[in-house]
Amino acid sequence: MMSFIERDCPICEKPIELKKGIIPDINPDNILNNIDYYWRGFHKEKVFFNYSRCCCGILYCKKYFSNEQLSKLYSNMSDNVHSGDIETDLYTKDSYIKSILNNLKKEKPISILELGSDNGSLLKKLQTKIPIKKIVAVEPNVKMHTKLDKIADNVYSDLSDVPELDKFDLIICIHVLDHIPDINKLINSLYLKLNNSGYLFGVVHDESSLLAKILGNRWPAYCLQHPQLFNERTIKKMFEKHNLTEIKTYKTINVFKFGYLLEQLLLAVFKIKINLPNLFNVHLKLGNIGFFFRK
Ligand SMILES: [Zn+2]
Repeated sequence: MMSFIERDCPICEKPIELKKGIIPDINPDNILNNIDYYWRGFHKEKVFFNYSRCCCGILYCKKYFSNEQLSKLYSNMSDNVHSGDIETDLYTKDSYIKSILNNLKKEKPISILELGSDNGSLLKKLQTKIPIKKIVAVEPNVKMHTKLDKIADNVYSDLSDVPELDKFDLIICIHVLDHIPDINKLINSLYLKLNNSGYLFGVVHDESSLLAKILGNRWPAYCLQHPQLFNERTIKKMFEKHNLTEIKTYKTINVFKFGYLLEQLLLAVFKIKINLPNLFNVHLKLGNIGFFFRK
C-alpha cells in the first residue's frame, strides 16, 4: 500500500501557514493503483499533489512520494528530452551555453560537474567552446551511461558517488532542482562540491510565468515529478539561504517545433490529444528561469 510523506516548506524548513495553491483534477490518493501510468507522459486529467504556497513565497507539495517510491518510479525512464526532438533540444542547449560563456570568468581550464546529464549533449557542445580539464557527469538513468562514458572523465549514478575530494569550478543542473524533495540537502552537497568562487548554473520552471498563469492547473510543470516549483524571487531565496551569491537570474529562451507546441496546447486547454507534423521552429521565453550563482 502506497502512503505519502508530509514535507515542511523547503525554504522555512518548518510547518507554516500556507496560502491557497494549485489543485489537480485528480489527487494521487485516488489513483494509488495507477500511479505508474500517470507518472509518464501527458494525460487529459491533471494528476499531481496539491501545490501550497508558503508565506515565504515558494510553491511546494506538502504531501509527496517518499525517496524509495521516487527511485522506483524514476528507474527505467527513457531520454528526458521534452521539446519534441533532438534538433530543437540542441538549439535550447545552445542558448544555455551562450549564457554560460557570458557569465563565466575563464582564466584557465576549468573542472565541470553536471547533475542530470541526460544524453550528454550539453557537455559535448561545451567541450568545443571552452578549455576544460575535467568533466564529471551524474545521471541516475543508467541507460545514458554508455553515451556519457564517451564524453565525461567519470560518470556516476548519484552525487554521493562522486569522490569527496573532487571539487569543481562549475556545476550545471538543468531541470534538476524542481525534482528533488530533499532540496536543502542537495544544495548543501553542491555547495561543498564547488571550489571557492565556483559557479552554479541551472534552469528551473518558472511558476510565475505568463504561460503558467494562462494555463492554470493545466500548466505542464504542475506534475507528479515536481515536489516544488520556483519563481525568480524564491530561487534566489533558496540559494542565498545556502550562502551562494546571485550573479544573474533570467528568463530563458526555449526552441520548440510549432506542431509539438500546438499538440501540447490543445491537450492542455481543450484536452484533445492529436499528432501534428513538426512544422517550423519557434523561439519562446516559455516559462523557464536560468540562474547563475557563485560561492
Ligand atoms: Zn516557507
